[in-house]
Amino acid sequence: MSTPAANLSDTYRHKGLRRELLGKLRDMGIADERVLEAMERVPRHHFMDDAFVHFAYENKAFRIGAGQTISHPYTVARQTELLGLAPGAKVLEIGTGSGYQCAVLVAMGFKVHSIERQKSLYDKTTPFLKRLGYRAHCYYGDGYKGKQAFAPFDGILVTCGAPFIPEALLGQLAEGGKLIIPLDDPAAGEGKQVMTEVQRVDAETFTKRTHGTFAFVPMLAARSGQAI
Ligand code: SAH
Repeated sequence: MSTPAANLSDTYRHKGLRRELLGKLRDMGIADERVLEAMERVPRHHFMDDAFVHFAYENKAFRIGAGQTISHPYTVARQTELLGLAPGAKVLEIGTGSGYQCAVLVAMGFKVHSIERQKSLYDKTTPFLKRLGYRAHCYYGDGYKGKQAFAPFDGILVTCGAPFIPEALLGQLAEGGKLIIPLDDPAAGEGKQVMTEVQRVDAETFTKRTHGTFAFVPMLAARSGQAI
């Protein structure tokens, strides 16, 4: 299994590569300067095995072990931008994975809660985020259930491809809050999802918009008795 970086240096070269990547993200249409600024401050290479550091600033997804990936930088930027939230907002992430998206959310000034379904990733990423100084509440659990104890959330970000919109997540959105979720769509192609934004207008009303096609690893079904 891949491990997070052991060498936690952040050199001028890394910073330069990061600035180049930000330029590409801008060219691809990321317009929220707060998102770009947060991504400039988070060393993506720390979330990857040392052996792959030179890939960290290419706009690519990457394997992080347990068959999972760290999302494309563009995907992280776009999902964060779609949340449209100000510092201090409370955000729930589904799929902690490497912790990179979580770190970007923390760097945005959000109060972050993040759930991971795979114990091995949870065990590895939770202490790693702490060691890097990113304060987030991490849980081993089932993202389909959300985290009722800390609801409502101003934003919920799902970082795996979901077969449908989990009812519990809608119920845990604050009024005005947004759920950003990549939804499986046969029309988008096998293994592809349509980025979907669901906003809670009031207790009963939700609006939906879509934002193009992406590719995520699948949102795993809950196994009884295992998830929190
Ligand atoms: N946000 C991560 C992306 C990791 S890939 C990052 O920046 O690295 C998606 C993650 O979702 C994987 O770690 C996978 O194990 C997790 N996942 C899949 N199904 C899940 C579920 N039902 N509940 C919570 N996490 C889930």
